[in-house]
Amino acid sequence: MMKTQNNFNFKKLTVPVVVMLAFWGLGLWGFVASGYIQPVIMFGYIGTALGVGLGLYETLPKQKKPVGRRLTLFLVGLFLMVIAIFMSRENVQIEGAIFGLLTGVIQMGVIHYVIAKIIGPLLFGRMWCGWACWTVMVLDLLPFKRPSGRLPRRFGWFRYLHFGLSLGIVLLLIYGVGFRAGASGSIAVTWFIIGNLLYYAVGIVLAYTLKDNRAFCKYVCPVSVPLKITSRFSLIKIGGEAAKCNDCGACVKMCPMDIRIPEYILHNERVLSTECSLCQTCITVCAPEALKLSFGFDVGGKELLREQSA
Ligand code: SF4
Ligand code: SF4
Ligand code: SF4
Repeated sequence: MMKTQNNFNFKKLTVPVVVMLAFWGLGLWGFVASGYIQPVIMFGYIGTALGVGLGLYETLPKQKKPVGRRLTLFLVGLFLMVIAIFMSRENVQIEGAIFGLLTGVIQMGVIHYVIAKIIGPLLFGRMWCGWACWTVMVLDLLPFKRPSGRLPRRFGWFRYLHFGLSLGIVLLLIYGVGFRAGASGSIAVTWFIIGNLLYYAVGIVLAYTLKDNRAFCKYVCPVSVPLKITSRFSLIKIGGEAAKCNDCGACVKMCPMDIRIPEYILHNERVLSTECSLCQTCITVCAPEALKLSFGFDVGGKELLREQSA
């Protein structure tokens, strides 16, 4: 009888399984903290979708790997939008979450922000940005996947201005005008829909202007502000083996966030940039297989980014 070889490496599934279990755990914690069942349904579903997508990414052949990430972006992004608009009737954009926090309306928007964008990134960094964001779900379909570098660093500050503006508008509406219905209800849902359409419009115009699908993330998105704070402590980051890296630069050319990856790896550091979305494109294109997802503790915030030459 002929023997069949089974070379499947189950270690590859460590990160997908850990992420999936972490989301289920976060959902249960949300249930205990809030008394609502929604966190279990929401984070259980998201964790399962992420686990499936990450698992596919790990196991599919190289040229098919992006399928796993695209699938997860749509599974999670569309799910959250449908729940927010048709079921919980909420604004789950950042202004809605701030409204909810300040007016005591602790619903999906607030729980989503606290767990996915403040506490969760301590484990999985900005995986939200690579695998789940409904804005990038659309922007990643555009043709500019290989940016030619960032605008000078000062343009990145616009995100902080945007965050301050969002916060200021909510404070003005609550404490200046007495308007408190920005978290849930028909006005909140309308705000969410119009806000998202604006994000898509600005994101598409910027992508075509700067030839960069991720221009909105790099210069405009206010959500990156809280994400950058806690993701610096992320236990999961891109790691690598300096001995295997030949400094060919292939990963830098393909990194959608313009991170100078080998400069970390060759100094025996993990990728410490808070711009990393853990999309894993760099791992896929690295021929000597010098890169991998890794667990560990280190403090990020060291930003080595490729800027456009003048
Ligand atoms: S930076 Fe903003 S738009 Fe970009 S992926 Fe992250 S949350 Fe989405
Ligand atoms: S693609 Fe791999 S070998 Fe080439 S620079 Fe990046 S990490 Fe090093
Ligand atoms: S460093 Fe790698 S995982 Fe991080 S954004 Fe760049 S390509 Fe994606």
